[in-house]
Formats: sequence, structure tokens, C-alpha cells
Amino acid sequence: MAVPKQRTSKKVKNQRRTHKKLHVPGMVECSNCGELTKPHHVCKSCGQYDGKQVVEQ
Ligand SMILES: [Zn+2]
Repeated sequence: MAVPKQRTSKKVKNQRRTHKKLHVPGMVECSNCGELTKPHHVCKSCGQYDGKQVVEQ
């Protein structure tokens, strides 16, 4: 069985799998308010799509 030669430092251990937390898959930031929304969908928080007000608040 393979045994690690050196103990993994806390820094290296904590650097593992950090890239997966950076963004939610299938979600984009709204160009108007910055809220996470589905791509090609009207933003739920500000009601804008493609820079135009689609849904009135
Ligand atoms: Zn928005």
C-alpha cells in the first residue's frame, strides 16, 4: 500500500478543492444587480433581462 513520505502541511491541505467553491454551476451573475440568476432567464431580484426592464417591481 502506498504510504505518504511527508506529512501534508495545513497550507497545502487547505488549498485542496478550493476552486470548486468559486461559483455555483449553472448560475450567472446579473449584469444589473450582481445577484446569481439562471442564464437566459429574467433576474428574480431586479426583473431585468439583457439590460432591459422586463418585469416591473
Ligand atoms: Zn438583477
